[in-house]
Amino acid sequence: MAPVERHAFDITVIGAGVVGLAVAEELSRRYRNILLLERNDSHGQETSSRNSEVIHAGIYYPEGSLKAALCVEGRRILYEACGKRGIPHRRTGKLIVATNAAEEEALQALLGKAHANGVDDMLMLSGRVVRSLEPEVVATAGLLSPSTGIIDSHGLMRALLVAAAGNGVTTAFRSRVTAARYDGVRYELEINGGESLVASRTVVNSAGLQSDRVAALPGIDVDLEGYRLKLCKGSYFFASPAPPIRHLVYPTPTPRHEGLGVHATLDLGGRVRFGPDVEYVDAVDYRVDEARRDAFHESIVTYLPGLAKESLHPDLCGIRPKLQGPGEEVRDFVISEESRLGLPGWINLIGIESPGLTACMAIARRVAELVQPLVG
Ligand SMILES: Cc1cc2nc3c(=O)[nH]c(=O)nc-3n(C[C@H](O)[C@H](O)[C@H](O)COP(=O)(O)OP(=O)(O)OC[C@H]3O[C@@H](n4cnc5c(N)ncnc54)[C@H](O)[C@@H]3O)c2cc1C
Repeated sequence: MAPVERHAFDITVIGAGVVGLAVAEELSRRYRNILLLERNDSHGQETSSRNSEVIHAGIYYPEGSLKAALCVEGRRILYEACGKRGIPHRRTGKLIVATNAAEEEALQALLGKAHANGVDDMLMLSGRVVRSLEPEVVATAGLLSPSTGIIDSHGLMRALLVAAAGNGVTTAFRSRVTAARYDGVRYELEINGGESLVASRTVVNSAGLQSDRVAALPGIDVDLEGYRLKLCKGSYFFASPAPPIRHLVYPTPTPRHEGLGVHATLDLGGRVRFGPDVEYVDAVDYRVDEARRDAFHESIVTYLPGLAKESLHPDLCGIRPKLQGPGEEVRDFVISEESRLGLPGWINLIGIESPGLTACMAIARRVAELVQPLVG
């Protein structure tokens, strides 16, 4: 039997999605001897490449929440980084449309929420102005968010990976963390069931859909801590021929806010995609059910009445790592250093659903603040 390989690092980041990559890159500007572990063959194979690629403004999230603060801060940092590093993106702007009096009232409330979150460039528009911007869209009123945009998430992840590698981060693919033990000084992480062992004083759990299971490895009771994830699938259909829209177009969100409603997004190649819908599931399955076309069409024609059902074709889907179950109150991101649980230096990132792509670099700065007193 081959001897078990042993390695030692100061900081280990588990998961090379957009958040783990941003964390590794941010930490690599300040520290050396960092390891990034990813179970797949390459980075960003899961939720980070199965989303709307929207740079959110920060409109919807509860005031004072991490989601609100890190979305607004993350959006600013992200646009700056896109400009500096040549990451493809576009400030398309976004219209949230109302189609009746009740929705108009909800839009007013949303405007107040946006202001409370520090999103100060929103404009309330009449139905006539909405039509002049988007002749295909039917609306009695609309909210325009000029700072919403779209990004090439793969370009972003590549830029983060290259920068992290340039700063000396070691990345190991096909490396699944299967166990973790704390000896009072450092963590011993077992890779692929004991193929190798990594000793690390600081560990950042950025394992996305698996982050609750990874948190359980050093002994955290995830149910007691409220860390248990619920999987919530979001499917997309693309439209061909594509309706001639220039902005992202969203319906007024539902009160419980499990998703943002089946909306129209553009990608940088000019494709129009609708989604994601909301479907709680028991297991990860990335097939899109064609039978959902009817329900998609029904919600889209409330604001885009000219869209033919036959123009909708199944596209990708993604799974949201949600902390709240169906109908439950919205939960915030968990970004927690776990000294209080007897696990100093173990940092959990759990429930990083939308706007996690927008917020990734702000989340990374928050993690760096947590690491600073540990590493010095
Ligand atoms: C349908 C949908 C639409 C969305 N739209 C948007 C949007 O428009 N804008 C926005 O801002 N956000 C959006 N989001 C949210 C955004 O995509 C996520 O917040 C973000 O991608 C999360 O990144 P992550 O790195 O935390 O997770 P992931 O991308 O899932 O990465 C986690 C990584 O950890 C690895 N891993 C797991 N377990 C282990 C282990 N034991 N050992 C080693 N590696 C492990 C996985 O293989 C994976 O690569 C959307 C999400 C969904 C599902």
